[in-house]
Amino acid sequence: MNCPRCKTELRAIELPEFDAEKVHMCDRCEGAWYSHDSLTAVATADFHEVESSELEPGLEPDKLDLVELDDPVACPECDKKMARFSYSLSPSTLLDECPEHGVWLDDGELGVILDQMALRNARNRREQNDIEDMREKMGLDAIADGSPYNPFAITLRFINNLFDKRRRHGHL
Ligand SMILES: [Zn+2]
Ligand SMILES: [Zn+2]
Repeated sequence: MNCPRCKTELRAIELPEFDAEKVHMCDRCEGAWYSHDSLTAVATADFHEVESSELEPGLEPDKLDLVELDDPVACPECDKKMARFSYSLSPSTLLDECPEHGVWLDDGELGVILDQMALRNARNRREQNDIEDMREKMGLDAIADGSPYNPFAITLRFINNLFDKRRRHGHL
């Protein structure tokens, strides 16, 4: 199987630490070919774990001068032109996907994905903490689930903010 960008033969990497299927790496332009499952496994792994794995070269975009990013790429498995889509957490990052076989990541795109995942997790944790604080303040231990997606918790947060605002403006 050859690199869809620079045609170098891809090298298979085993990643038992992520419970992932093999990833095929281009040692020249540092792009990599992931099955959907292996990408999910790697993208949800810890950044430092990925950094100390064989995938490390794909984290920093230092080989992009070797490839033409605007050119369409073909799936390395079936040679069909891949679909380009923007990564939901970082819309300026364009990924190439064969719906049947997997996703091609150019050099550095893995780093963007892991950064964005870490940011999202941190945001979720912060929101979780805010809700915990609020529950404490209002003495609402009775709320069983403090998840930010719990509509009840969101309503309470809204009401609490409203009270804060009115208090500041001297209405309460
Ligand atoms: Zn390549
Ligand atoms: Zn394919």
